[in-house]
Amino acid sequence: MSHQVLVINCGSSSLKFAVLGGHSNCPILEGIAERLDSPEQSFITFKHNGAKSVSALPGGDHQAAVGAIKEWIHNNKSAAIQLAGIGHRVVHGGELFSESVIVDERVLAGIEQCANIAPLHNPAHIKGIKEAQKQFGKLPHVAVFDTAFHQTLSADQYLYPIPMRLYREHHFRKYGFHGTSYRYISMQLAELSPTYGKQNALIAHLGNGASVCAISGGVSVDTSMGITPLEGLMMGTRSGSLDPSLLSFIAHAEQLSMDEALNILNKDSGLKGISEKSNDCRTLEMAQASGDTQADLALTMFASRAAKHLASVATNLESLEHLIFTGGIGENSALIRSRICQRLKTLGIILDETKNESVPRGEISCIAPINAVIKVWIIPTNEELLIAQDTLHLINKSIEPSPNT
Ligand code: AMP
Repeated sequence: MSHQVLVINCGSSSLKFAVLGGHSNCPILEGIAERLDSPEQSFITFKHNGAKSVSALPGGDHQAAVGAIKEWIHNNKSAAIQLAGIGHRVVHGGELFSESVIVDERVLAGIEQCANIAPLHNPAHIKGIKEAQKQFGKLPHVAVFDTAFHQTLSADQYLYPIPMRLYREHHFRKYGFHGTSYRYISMQLAELSPTYGKQNALIAHLGNGASVCAISGGVSVDTSMGITPLEGLMMGTRSGSLDPSLLSFIAHAEQLSMDEALNILNKDSGLKGISEKSNDCRTLEMAQASGDTQADLALTMFASRAAKHLASVATNLESLEHLIFTGGIGENSALIRSRICQRLKTLGIILDETKNESVPRGEISCIAPINAVIKVWIIPTNEELLIAQDTLHLINKSIEPSPNT
C-alpha cells in the first residue's frame, strides 16, 4: 500500500495542502490556493523538488482548488504521487471528538454541529472535505482536530465561571487549540527524554496565532486559548485576553455591532494594533533594531503576556522539567525567547544566551545551560506530518482483519 497522504487545511478564503509520505519528513508537494471566493483573481502555488509555480485559478473556489491539485498530480507523473488517503485539519471538534477519525456521514454531521462555536472555520472545512470526497472519491478521508488534544482538561480548568446552564445548554467552555502541534511536540519530547511519561512540560507555540500548554505525563492539563483562538496570549493580530467589558465599550464608542467590535480584537489588535506597523514579528524586530520604540513596545508586550500565561498554566503542574518553544516566532526569534525566559526566573527557568543566539535553524536544540534542572528546548513543529501519520494509522487500522475473522 502507498504511504502517501494529501493533507488539506481549508480556510474560508485559502486552501493549504501538502503531500507527505516520502523517505524524509519533507513534503513531496506543497502549496496554497489563495483569494478563494473573492472578487480578486484567485491563484494557486505548487512547490515540488525546490521549484515553485504560481498560476491563476479559474473558478476561484474550493472546488477549483481541489480540482487543480488533482490535475497537478495527474499531469506530473514523474513526481510519482500515489495517495493512500486524505487528512483534513479541522479546527473545532467541540466535545464530540477527542481523537482523529475516519470521515463518514456521522463525522461530517458532528463537524457541522460544532460550526456554531467555530463559524469562521468549520463551514470551510466541511466544504473542503465534501469537495475532496467528490474528486478523490475512492480514497479514505480522516479528520484531525485542533481541539482534540485538550479534551483531557479537567472541569475546573475547562469551565468558565459563568452560569452552569450556559455550559449545559450551549457547550460554552474552554476548548483550546494548536492541539496537533502540542501532540507532535509531546511525541518528540518522549523520544528525547526516556522518563517523559512521569515528567511535566510547558510548551509555547508562538506564531501568528500563539498559545501555551501545560502537559503532565504526555497529557494536556491546561492551555491558554478558549472557546475560540482569541483568548490567552497577545498574537499577530489578536488581542488575546482582556476585560470582556471592553467589547461593549468599543462597540458603543465606535458605533459598531458586537461582531464588528470583535473583528477589531481578532484582526486589528495584537502586534499589529500596538506597533501600527505590522503583525509580523520579524518585521518588528528589524524596526526595533533601528530605533522604532512602538515596535519595541509591541514585542515587549508580546513577550510579557507569553511569560504570564506560561506561569499561569504552570500552576497545574507539580514540577517542571521542560520548557519548549515552537511555531514561527518560538523557533526563530532569539529576542522573544530571551525576553520570555528573563521573566520566568521565579519558575527556575534559565537560558544559555549564547546557545539561544546561535542555534541552527529548523533543528531540535536545547538552549538551557548544561546542568539546568529545567531543560529549555526549541522543537520545530510539524502539524502536517502528524495529520499524515494519523491518517495512515487510521486507514491501516480500518483494513486490518479483526481478531475474529
Ligand atoms: P507561523 O504562524 O508559525 O508561521 O509564524 C509566523 C511568525 O513567525 C511571523 O510573525 C514571523 O515574523 C515569525 N518569524 C519567522 N521567522 C522569524 C525570524 N527569523 N525571526 C523572528 N520572527 C520570525
